[in-house]
Formats: sequence, C-alpha cells, structure tokens
Amino acid sequence: MFDLIILGGGPGGYELASNAARKGLKTAIVEKGRFGGTCVTVGCIPSKAFLHAEKVFSEAKEGKNIGINLKEISFDQKQLVKYKDQKVTFLTQAAEMKVKRSGAKIYKGFGKIKETSKAQDFKILINDQEEISGKNLVIATGSEVFYPPIPGLNKNDKTVIDSEKALALFEIPKKLVIMGGGVIGLELGTFFAGIGSEVTIVELAPKIAGPFDYEISLKLQQELEAKKKIKFLLEHKVSEVLNKEVICVDKNDKKIKLPFDKLLVAAGRKPFIKDFGLENLRVYIEKGAIVTDENLKTNVPGLYAIGDVNGKSMLAHTAYREGEIVLENILGNKIKINYDQIPSVIYCTPEVGEIGINEDLAKKQGIEIRTKKIPMLYSGRFVIEVGNYAGKNFDGLLKIILKKSTDEIIGISLLGNYSSEIINMASVLINKRYNSKSLKDVVFAHPTVGEIIKTAILE
Ligand SMILES: Cc1cc2nc3c(=O)[nH]c(=O)nc-3n(C[C@H](O)[C@H](O)[C@H](O)COP(=O)(O)OP(=O)(O)OC[C@H]3O[C@@H](n4cnc5c(N)ncnc54)[C@H](O)[C@@H]3O)c2cc1C
Repeated sequence: MFDLIILGGGPGGYELASNAARKGLKTAIVEKGRFGGTCVTVGCIPSKAFLHAEKVFSEAKEGKNIGINLKEISFDQKQLVKYKDQKVTFLTQAAEMKVKRSGAKIYKGFGKIKETSKAQDFKILINDQEEISGKNLVIATGSEVFYPPIPGLNKNDKTVIDSEKALALFEIPKKLVIMGGGVIGLELGTFFAGIGSEVTIVELAPKIAGPFDYEISLKLQQELEAKKKIKFLLEHKVSEVLNKEVICVDKNDKKIKLPFDKLLVAAGRKPFIKDFGLENLRVYIEKGAIVTDENLKTNVPGLYAIGDVNGKSMLAHTAYREGEIVLENILGNKIKINYDQIPSVIYCTPEVGEIGINEDLAKKQGIEIRTKKIPMLYSGRFVIEVGNYAGKNFDGLLKIILKKSTDEIIGISLLGNYSSEIINMASVLINKRYNSKSLKDVVFAHPTVGEIIKTAILE
C-alpha cells in the first residue's frame, strides 16, 4: 500500500509527488496525458511563448528608436507553433524526469476511484486494469475550459476557439472577437492584436482584469487600446452567436453585432471532477469544485484536493503551494494556506503584477492604509527599456499599500514590464512582513526596475 497516491500530474500533482517521495513517503502518481498538465501543455508555458514572440516582434518594429534598422519584418505563425511545441515537449519530459528521479512510482493512464469500505484505504483503478491502494489520496485533476450556455455557441464550430485551440492556431485571424476580459482574454488578445488581428474584447464587468487594482486595470486598458488597437466593450454580454457574428447587449439592452473570423471563448475554466469515480467517495462539492479547508483537506479523512480542482485560485503556483501544504499535513505539521499571499500576473505588454491587498480591497474591507504611489518612470532602467515603448511615452505605475496602524506592507500592485519578475520580491516583502522602516535598510542594485520599490518607500 502506498502512503500517498496523487491523481493528476499537473503542477500540483508532479511537484507534490517528487517532494513527497524525497521526504520518504511511498508515493504513486497517475497521469493520463503528459506531465506538466494544463500549465505546461496548453496554459502558462505556451501562452508565454506566444507573448514572448509578440513582444520581440513589436520591439523589432520599433527598433529604429534605438538605431536598429530592419528592412523586412514578418511574422511566421507556423514557426512559432513549432517552437512552442518543442519547448512544451522539453518541459513535459523535464517534469516527468523530476518525478522519476525522486523515486515516486509513475502510472501512465486514466485513474478511476473505486468505492471503498475502509477508511484511509483508497483504491485507484488504472486504465481499467491495474489496481493500487493508498492511505492518502490527493485529487489534482485540474480544470477544463468553460463554455457558457449561449444560444448558437457551439464549441465544435471551426470558427469558435478556446485558449487551447488558439495556442495551436496556424493562421492569424483577421477579425478576432474575445469573450472575456480576464487574464487569458487579455494575454491572448495582446498576442493576436500584436501580430496583426483586429481584436475586440467583450467583457461583462465594468472593468477588465477581474480583481486587479482598478486604476491599474484602467491604465492597462488605455495602453492596450493605444498601442495594440484592441477595442473593449465593457458591461456587454454576448447573448447569441450566429454564423461568424456575435450579438452583444449592453446594460440598457442595446444590441450590437460584431462580425468575426474567429470567436475566442475566454469566459473562465471549471474544475475537472467528472468521469473518474469521485462520487464513490461522497466528497463535498460546491459550485462545481471540491470543497477544501485551509489544510487542503476534504470532508473525507485522508482525501485532499489541490490546484484548479478546488476552484480557489486557478494558478499554477497556487497548486504548487497547496501541494506543499498537503505534504506538511501528511507529515504531521498542521500548516495552513494563506491565499492572500499568492501573487497574480498578467503577462501582456505592459505586464501587471499584484499581491496582497490592493487599494480597492482595503477600502472595501475598511482597512486604514497609506499608499505610496509613483510612476515606474522613476526607474532609470524602465525609462530606457520600457518607458518609451512603441515610440510613445509610457509611465507605468507602482502602488505600495501600507497598513496605517503598523506601517506593514500589505499589498503591492505594478503596471509595466518586469512586473512579472519584481512581483517575486514583492511576495517576499509581504510574506516576511516588511514595513517601510525595514525596507529602507535593504540595498537594491542599480539600475534595475525593481529598485523602484525602495524609491517609492523613500519618496
Ligand atoms: C491559456 C492559459 C494560460 C495560463 N497561464 C498561467 C500563468 O501564466 N500562470 C499561472 O500560474 N497559471 C496559468 N494558467 C493556469 C494553470 O495552467 C493552472 O492553474 C494549473 O495548470 C493548474 O494545475 P493543476 O495541477 O491543478 O491541474 P492541471 O495542470 O490541469 O493538471 C491536471 C492533470 O491531471 C490529469 N488528469 C485529470 N484527470 C485524470 C485522471 N482521472 N487520471 C489521470 N490523470 C488525470 C490531466 O491529464 C492533467 O495533466 C493558465 C491557464 C491557461 C488555460
């Protein structure tokens, strides 16, 4: 009998498997596809390959600003897909190798949970053939694209795509309509707009970028409108999809028709909880996700759920962290997850990064704060590398949120490139409970964009 069985080899599953085996637990992991899951095969990694290409392409076009004159620049989408596929193969193999080296036992195939009579004696049937059993079971089966029930929306139509299909597309759509102005819609919208598509993003909410800081979301929208020529229809709902035409209604029920060559559905993802025998465990499900507590435990003793399948925060690094928490709990250390300390990033240009409590949330929660707010142009490196992006001045924005009563840094929001890297430093500052005084003692390298954090505190 295994100490631990993990169902699903995405970021949540494969990291946990290798960490658990290295800690001496007899561990098994079951994966039906490729190791790395959504993140490596059709999510984080492929989308960042696309965005990297778009960024290089846009910068090449603007190269004359810094003395680079290229006669002919064109975009080869087929080559990009080929490049992306090569890197995905490399990284899926690396993930599998990591698990193998740790000593965890790998089972390749579809895992199905069987009904059990004894507590902490979980039974998994692999490909309807081999059966394994374990004392603890971790569900890490991830999520799938959510297609909202809209009249005429058919995921089998050739003109209708989701993020997975978009990241394998050989041709560049002339007119692309995107349903959803969240992270995935914005990232893919930036990519396609940057390589020549006419992009319209339809968003139900009055702002883009979901829960990110309002001011930063607004500035991001203005940048994408100005530099990428993306059109945004906020507070609009897609009410019907016709042949190559979307019908949207605004809050006053006014109808608009949007013609498209491709319609990209980016209206969210839903936990993957069906067809693998979850019902045999009588686990609590709420709003389509497995219910977990702060130790990632479910209502069934010995059963945990990590990553997208619990619907808490659908990010790869959340899945990693949740796996760490599970391992500590199995080892007897009752560590809890803190979702407030999970950073979020949008990797379009300009990048956005955020962690902790933003200004809007602080107001909503009635927390008394002091905000340190400066444009990213206060960084010399930002001025030379980012601020003059696409030939036009771009200020960027940094907001540091300090709790008035304690001077503690409780949130950081950034707009402008390198934010996706600076956010890790922000994460340390918040996790280690830095305040403005302790930050002043830290020396930052110059010229870097990250030194802006100290500049803002000293301002
Ligand atoms: C376009 C896109 C871009 C994204 N970009 C980012 C980003 O930049 N940063 C970020 O943090 N997150 C990003 N995400 C989200 C990220 O991919 C997910 O949060 C992450 O992959 C979740 O990890 P997971 O381990 O929970 O599940 P998954 O990665 O979905 O892995 C689940 C695995 O379980 C396997 N499985 C399922 N059922 C069974 C079964 N019964 N038997 C055996 N195996 C099974 C599947 O084959 C899969 O490999 C992105 C997602 C998308 C779609």
